[in-house]
Amino acid sequence: MASSAIESIMTPKVVSVEPDTPILEVVGRMHAQRFSCIVVCVENLPVGIVSERDVVAIAASPLSTAQTGMTAGDFMSAPVTTIETTATVDDAIEKIQQARIRHLPVVDARGQLVGLVTQTDIVRAYRTHMEAIVAERTAQLAEANKELEALSREDGLLGIGNRRAMEESLAQFYELAIRYGRPYSIVLCDVDYFKPYNDRYGHPAGDQILKRLTRQIEQTVRGVDQLYRYGGEELLLILPETQLSGGAITAHRICIAIHELAIPHEDSCHGVVTISCGLAGLPGASGVRSWLDLVKCADQALYRAKREGRNRVSVDE
Ligand code: GH3
Ligand code: MG
Ligand code: MG
Repeated sequence: MASSAIESIMTPKVVSVEPDTPILEVVGRMHAQRFSCIVVCVENLPVGIVSERDVVAIAASPLSTAQTGMTAGDFMSAPVTTIETTATVDDAIEKIQQARIRHLPVVDARGQLVGLVTQTDIVRAYRTHMEAIVAERTAQLAEANKELEALSREDGLLGIGNRRAMEESLAQFYELAIRYGRPYSIVLCDVDYFKPYNDRYGHPAGDQILKRLTRQIEQTVRGVDQLYRYGGEELLLILPETQLSGGAITAHRICIAIHELAIPHEDSCHGVVTISCGLAGLPGASGVRSWLDLVKCADQALYRAKREGRNRVSVDE
């Protein structure tokens, strides 16, 4: 904007009159053509300006003034402040502010009138400019947020590892199990009847439940165990150095701990908020060729726990 040329915002259609033009004619043209000013020129060189302010002065003067053949030259404001076509919009703003005027005739290198810049032109140009800046900054911000989200390893709502962190960890544990025979188990936890919970108590209340359940699970497991948000209302727990039998004990403990919170849930057959868990681990799981396969095993076990009545643990067979 600062470097924008004045020509980009000026009105090239500018009306000028000679100084000896009768003032009534000038006012008549301003009225008919809705001009807020008329530039007074001698051989196209601006010598003055008749603006709405001057018209007010005419209106306030005795009626005889206009009738006695007063001219534009008698009423114009002079000398007139002008600006060259090579100037910038910021130059124009400075001039308008300094001279306390609203109209700035634009002249070429020879001083000839070529256009007019009004305060309205400047406001309009600035508005367009600001809108473009805001749009550009908004797009940049959205892009930066996307990058941040991708880089982040934490879930914003629950304050535990997000899916990205979970996948990295799962890949690492799988690698350790395959290379060094290190056992581990994973528990996929899913809140029972959570959609009806949201529907009855509202989504914000549902969010609070997810937070409480997360804290409860964290307090139930060991410090070395890792809890992640798998997605939505599903959490995934990694139990390092834990065989399936040990994993089953932990998963049962979690289910009981959640049940004991006794959070009312009128649309659950259990009357309170409960979760179901699917458990899988290595060694033990069959046909597993990647960490993804192990998650699938846990998911199938979870599905069985749901089918069998929820608020329970099912172990991958
Ligand atoms: P099921 O017992 O079979 O698991 O039933 P469900 O209703 O829990 O399962 P479903 O998959 O049909 O619905 C999951 C619900 O979890 C729907 C969705 O609105 C809710 N949900 C997922 N993420 C969030 C969240 O971050 N906050 C809240 N409040 N609700 C969530
Ligand atoms: Mg679910
Ligand atoms: Mg659910």
